[in-house]
Order: sequence, then C-alpha cells, then structure tokens
Amino acid sequence: MTVLHNTLNQSRLSLDVADALLKTDEFAFAVIDASFRILKVSNNFKHLTSTDHDPLGLTLESALWEFVGMEDELTAVLHNKSPKFQLQHISRTLSDGSDAYLHFEVTAQKLQNHQPGLFLLIQDQTELGIAHQRLTQQKNKLYLLKNELDNTNQTLNHTIKMKDVFLSMATHDMRNPLSAIMGYASLLMSTNGVKDESARDEMLHAIIDQSNHLNFLIDDIVIVDKLKNGQLVLDIEETAVDDILTKTIEALGPIIEKKHLTFHLTLQQEPLLVPVDKQRFWQITYNLLSNSLKYTPDWGKVEVNAKLTKTKFVLRVSDNGLGISKENLAKLFNIYYRTDSARTSSISGNGIGLYIVKTIVEAHQGDIFVESTVGEGSTFIIELPLLGQNT
Ligand code: ADP
Repeated sequence: MTVLHNTLNQSRLSLDVADALLKTDEFAFAVIDASFRILKVSNNFKHLTSTDHDPLGLTLESALWEFVGMEDELTAVLHNKSPKFQLQHISRTLSDGSDAYLHFEVTAQKLQNHQPGLFLLIQDQTELGIAHQRLTQQKNKLYLLKNELDNTNQTLNHTIKMKDVFLSMATHDMRNPLSAIMGYASLLMSTNGVKDESARDEMLHAIIDQSNHLNFLIDDIVIVDKLKNGQLVLDIEETAVDDILTKTIEALGPIIEKKHLTFHLTLQQEPLLVPVDKQRFWQITYNLLSNSLKYTPDWGKVEVNAKLTKTKFVLRVSDNGLGISKENLAKLFNIYYRTDSARTSSISGNGIGLYIVKTIVEAHQGDIFVESTVGEGSTFIIELPLLGQNT
C-alpha cells in the first residue's frame, strides 16, 4: 500500500490514472480538502466501504463514522506535523453477510489548486483480518489449554499430597488395632496366662473385633486401588441385605455402646432381597454407619431405615451429629476429602469412605444423596435399582 501511495505522490499521476490503476477491489481512495470534505473518490470506494450514499461533498466523518472525533489527528497530517494517520481492522458486514476488514491510511496531498489536502487510501485486508482472527482464536485456545493443564497439574499435585497423607494415616489407623491384638495375644500367652475364663473370653472377642476392624481398613485400601485402575468387577446376586445390615451393626456394636448412642434399625420386611454385590454392599453399609457413629457425639442418636419400593431399594442412615455445611456437601464424595472440622478434630479418618460408597453405588446404577444441617445432623440416602430396573 505504501508503495502504491508513494507512486501516486511522487509521480503526481492524475487521479483518473490512479483510478484506472485500482482495477482490483483491494484498494480504494478518496481525495479530501482542508475542511475534510470529500472531493473525489475512486469508482470502487462505495463498494469497498459498503456505503449506499454518494460520498462526494460529505465530510470524511459523515461518510465514514470511524473518523468521528479524529479532527486533531487529521489536522496534524494536513499541516505535515504527522506523516500519516491510520485506522486498522475496520470491520464491515458485506451484503452477503460476510465480514470484511479494512485498513485506512491518510496522508497529506497537494490538491490540483495547490491547496493542502488529504489522501485516504483504503485497503481490503479481509484475508489478513481472517488470518489474524484465526490466530487470535488459536492463541485463546492455547491459553485455555494451558489453563486446563495448570489446573490438572494442580489437582494432580494435590492428589499426590493427599495420597501421602492418606498412606500415613492408614498406617497409623492400622497400628492401633494391630497393637491391641498383639497386647491381648501376649497377655493370653504370658506364663501366668489369664486365669479368669470370662476375662479370657473378652480378650479373645476383642482380638476378633480388632481383626475385623483391620480387615475393613485393608478392604478400603484395596478397593481404592481397584476403583482407580478401573478393575472393579461386581458379582451381583439377589441378597438379603437386612442380614448384612444386622451384621454390620453387630460389628459396630462396641462403638455404639462405648459412645452411649441410641440406635434404631427399621427394616420394612425380612428378608429384604436386593440384587447387589454382597462384599461391596457390606462396604457401603460399614462406611456409612461407621461415619454416623464417628461424627455423632456421645449420647447422640443414629437411625437406619431400609425399605423396598416398586422399583428400588432405599437405605437411609440418619444421625443427629455434627452435620455438614452446604459448601462442604459439594466436595464430600471427592477422594481424600475431609471437612475442615473433621481434619482438625480428634476423629480419625482418611477421606476415602464416601468416595468408595459413591463409586460402588454408581457401579450398581444407583444414586446417593445427602441432606445435612450443621449442628443438627446428616442423612445419607442410597437408592439401588431392583432387577430389571437398571436404566
Ligand atoms: P473419613 O474417613 O474422613 O470419615 P469419608 O470419606 O468417610 O472420610 O467422609 C468424608 C468427610 O465427610 C468426613 O471427613 C467428614 O468430614 C464428612 N462426613 C461423612 N459422614 C459424615 C456424617 N455422618 N456427619 C458429619 N460429617 C460427615
């Protein structure tokens, strides 16, 4: 464009010749007087600027609104205080609905009467504009990708950190039942032995309880690995889930007793036959029930209700314990997530129980819901489809 403009200026070609030269639709021009009125335009001016009205005699700003408020800049060019004035990426919608991008360049031009004037050269830069637009889009996409990558990295780092915390907590959690087992076993084996039969019985029961607890901890760790590697295969069969619920409650009996909790189990009927994977259902009930017991202070109340509707099995586990804030409810089922109050309390945990429960429930095509109010308690609801009801 500069070359063309220089040619026009230096060789002082008549504007008619210049017009003839502008055969392509790529360039257009206008000659403007000192009061910014348009004296002459090239034939393709109207087409290139997508204007309907005749620009001759109009001021530059009424012909092209982009020049509104640009008098100072134009005056500077007119009086050779500034070599040129340019406007870039001016967009126009063409009659076919497509967008065109124009470049305006204004330079000083002596008029035929030797008065000072201006020369406006317009270049259609649509191709360049589209390329520029594409580049900006690509740049934005790259930026979004980078952000996504940053977020993934952050999540990954957080997960690795949480996994470390989990491992140290899990080993810590395992040490307690293990040292209890070792303590009771050594007492039973000591040279004097435990003479009192009922005390011996109690110790043997404690060993079994602690071994069960250890078993549950190991089960949770093993299943997390399976879930993460997508290796969870369900062995679904019609199961009397009331039986599993009763056994879970029996296993947790010592905690209920120790914390003086009121505990109610309501079964709609016995047996309650539901198609589940026995072992996994056991994990669902154990995790939900032990949470209710854990997060309910001494002398609190825990209720379990199990029933069948026409299409599903519904299990509700309610407590009048600590409760969970709305903000925490959204993150509750994330792996390794513990609420601040749980983390800072002396209640032990590793933040995988609810993640396991949700994943197993979903593998059964079921749903899990939670209703809770801080200070009033929580209710976890599980719904599993009955046979032939899978959606
Ligand atoms: P944890 O081992 O920490 O109990 P979970 O995955 O089972 O891990 O639970 C995640 C978090 O959800 C807990 O740390 C606790 O903050 C909260 N939570 C779970 N169940 C209850 C409940 N019944 N009452 C109050 N808070 C609960």
